[in-house]
Amino acid sequence: MEKTFLDRLNAGEILVADGATGTNYQAMGIEIGVPPEEWVFDQPEKVLALHRAFVDAGSDIILTDTFGGTRLRMRDSKYADRAPELNRRAAELARQAALTRAGVLVAGSMGPTGMLMEPFGELTHDAAADAYAEQAAALTEGGVDFLLLETFFALAEAQAAIEGVQRASALPLVVSFSYDQGTRTMMGLGPTQVVRAIAPLGVAAIGANCGKSLDAMEQIVKEMAALKTGIPLWIKPNAGLPRMDGDIARYDTAPATMAEYTTRYIDAGAQIVGGCCGNSPAHVAAMARAAKHAQPM
Ligand SMILES: [Zn+2]
Repeated sequence: MEKTFLDRLNAGEILVADGATGTNYQAMGIEIGVPPEEWVFDQPEKVLALHRAFVDAGSDIILTDTFGGTRLRMRDSKYADRAPELNRRAAELARQAALTRAGVLVAGSMGPTGMLMEPFGELTHDAAADAYAEQAAALTEGGVDFLLLETFFALAEAQAAIEGVQRASALPLVVSFSYDQGTRTMMGLGPTQVVRAIAPLGVAAIGANCGKSLDAMEQIVKEMAALKTGIPLWIKPNAGLPRMDGDIARYDTAPATMAEYTTRYIDAGAQIVGGCCGNSPAHVAAMARAAKHAQPM
């Protein structure tokens, strides 16, 4: 039988995740303002093509095109009433691309709802938990290997999401926050606070993704590793700092630089490394080569 995500983490294997969805879809022609999830129905061949490019680049893990796929985040989408079907289909597409190479795992990506929780906004704990339960159930049905809550910035929303996911699915769950203020989230949380709150909740890995600079991400890895929870660390940074070109964020960081930081993150204690915004298949290929060198044997 093929080894599961948890088997591989427990064996100490270094795993390489994939790169960006949004910025690569831009390069493939998605129009500004179109939610990337809509391509699951409208451009399934392109969704498959990007997944396959990451598999070819050496990704051990590819993420479904469902970051904005909660019913709440999709409320203004033309597919607002088809959220579960879209998530199921996205999982099936990633599964299909994963067959290209043995041992490629599929993670069901789930991002924030885009709403603020009470008392700052109108989203209740129960409504958030229900939305993630629905998304997690659909991704599980579609055949993902594990589930991923990513780019979170508020503890209350993450806790509601974890509760909903765990109610709906027995699959392993990774929880990753975005420290987009350097080493703090938009809500002012630091990695230590986040890890202390999330570690007792039965998660397979804790992470940081998106965020700010590559150096800030190294500080975050060190801070999380110093807590010695024994829980694997998932690290998926942007390709450095972007420069704005009109409305579009352009990432100029070279693949070789991402490779160098991959080695640093692994040395600091990361077990899963990939790329967020701005990381093309070429970046992931360079990161995968660096990760295989860093593999403790
Ligand atoms: Zn990002």
